[in-house]
Amino acid sequence: MAKRDYYDVLGVSKDIDSKELKKAYRKKAMKYHPDRNPGDASAEEKFKELSEAYEVLADADKRAAYDRYGHEAVDGSAGGGFGGGQGGADFGDIFGDVFGDIFGGGGRRGPSGPAPGADLRYSMELSLEEAVRGVEKKIRIPTLVACSPCSGTGAKSGSKPSTCGTCNGHGQVRMQQGFFAVQQTCPRCQGRGQVIEDPCTSCRGRGVTEESKTLSVKIPPGVDTGDRIRLGGEGEAAPNGGRTGDLYVQVSVKQHPIFERDGKHLYCEVPINFADAALGGDLEVPTLSGRVKLTIPEGTQTGKMFRLRAKGIKPVRGGAVGDLLCKVVVETPVGLSKAQKELLEQFRESTTGKKHQPKSSTWFDSVKSFFDDI
Ligand SMILES: [Zn+2]
Ligand SMILES: [Zn+2]
Repeated sequence: MAKRDYYDVLGVSKDIDSKELKKAYRKKAMKYHPDRNPGDASAEEKFKELSEAYEVLADADKRAAYDRYGHEAVDGSAGGGFGGGQGGADFGDIFGDVFGDIFGGGGRRGPSGPAPGADLRYSMELSLEEAVRGVEKKIRIPTLVACSPCSGTGAKSGSKPSTCGTCNGHGQVRMQQGFFAVQQTCPRCQGRGQVIEDPCTSCRGRGVTEESKTLSVKIPPGVDTGDRIRLGGEGEAAPNGGRTGDLYVQVSVKQHPIFERDGKHLYCEVPINFADAALGGDLEVPTLSGRVKLTIPEGTQTGKMFRLRAKGIKPVRGGAVGDLLCKVVVETPVGLSKAQKELLEQFRESTTGKKHQPKSSTWFDSVKSFFDDI
């Protein structure tokens, strides 16, 4: 099946910058996340498609290659010269450098070794608090594991695979064609050099069985949507002694009721009473580590942004802690009693005049000159 254009998949224009790209990806990834669409295969397909598109477009080199040559340039299966020929599996794995050792990255197979087991991808949705503080989560994943009755050999317990008689264990046979002797992969053992006369009944000779396993995944503090964590050797077992695949845990962070996240910074809106705005005072504002005091000056206007340094997020890749940006929104009081209304009436009479309403007086002035000009 032909692949869709990566920009179309993410619904973005070709000149989008990386920040906007991440935003677009995050928005769509949330919508189609498998945890939010249980049992919906089309959502899962969409999610995979999105992740793939984002992995390519988020990397400047890959993106440039994709822009010039299309899908073939970035598809691992196409055997292109880009990305080190690892099928893109490691690409976008930000933890590869930092955490590769912890997760036991494991060596890559050589070019002629047996086929490795498949890599698995697990989508994990985290709350903002979990993403910021880090968390350890148990996950259950279906996987192929080496069959235990036959210890992965595929031969019935007590028997062993025997040397293939057709190729005498070489895996290759010589065929005489006229003057030429041609080497071919042995048709009986498919190049393995061994055949199973008496297959194991649990795995029917495959050497692997399907199981689900529970894993504990350590999420480091500071992760964000689009990050992924590699668990080396936790993917599918490979038949014939190949390297076991890896498991990739793909992170997406849920929307928070109070905070919006932008990289390492947090943003929130704080409603304030209009008397507090006018007189100034101390507000209590929420942070991810509890409430803190924010002092606002007298005459604070609605929409004013206050920056609380280092109350944001410590990035997973290191660097300074981000800030918390609080936007105060002046709230108009509702449901007033008769007495309160009278107080406000008095207040209104007392505040006519330019000096109390700097914004509206300039506004009225410009409206006046606008009409005078017509
Ligand atoms: Zn053979
Ligand atoms: Zn078996």
